[in-house]
Amino acid sequence: FTDIAHPVAVALECAGEGPAMQRTAGLPDEMFDHDGQITKRPVRALTLSALAPRPGECLWDIGAGSGSIGIEWLLAHPANRALAIEADPARAERARANARALGVDRLEIVTGAAPDALPDGPGPDAVFIGGGLSQTLLEAVWTRLPAATRLVANAVTLESEALVAQWHAERGGTLLRIELADAAPLGDRRGWKARYPVVQWSVVL
Ligand code: SAH
Repeated sequence: FTDIAHPVAVALECAGEGPAMQRTAGLPDEMFDHDGQITKRPVRALTLSALAPRPGECLWDIGAGSGSIGIEWLLAHPANRALAIEADPARAERARANARALGVDRLEIVTGAAPDALPDGPGPDAVFIGGGLSQTLLEAVWTRLPAATRLVANAVTLESEALVAQWHAERGGTLLRIELADAAPLGDRRGWKARYPVVQWSVVL
């Protein structure tokens, strides 16, 4: 853990040697400043696994929110590169601050709405769509990015779920429905409190 520049205050305690940060994807949500719009820890771990960063690769994190996906992509290897595209200026600024606090200030940020805000020039190795999922955005990704680009899209709403189900039927890949529940107080006992299901589509262009 010594190559992480700025382990933050909430990092795990490690046998009396001060703060240390885990090296696997799926950091605690509290390590990112956020306004509730964040891909939560277990779904984030599954998302990074699906994105499968290799050393030196580049990610576009579309609808970056707190920047957590792009940040964990960068933490996977010092040679990795990532571009966060976020429509909301306050969230874009928060993503920048989170990247700095977690020692990966090489996260590049574009404040603007995809697909218009997508940069020209060479495309990434992988694309994550965590916000702004639409027919127009998927068409833009398909027309602008080369074959072999990996795409992972997380859908939470019925509308975006219907969209990825349609595109999965036409383009293939895998659909994963992630249904999680947390034990929570229920009267004087406990019950399973369901989270919103997330439908994750992974496909290679
Ligand atoms: N993966 C993020 C959470 C994404 S929430 C994280 O872990 O923090 C969805 C985000 O998409 C919101 O911040 C919203 O502002 C952004 N968004 C919605 N439509 C967008 C678009 N067309 N282009 C860019 N960002 C968009």
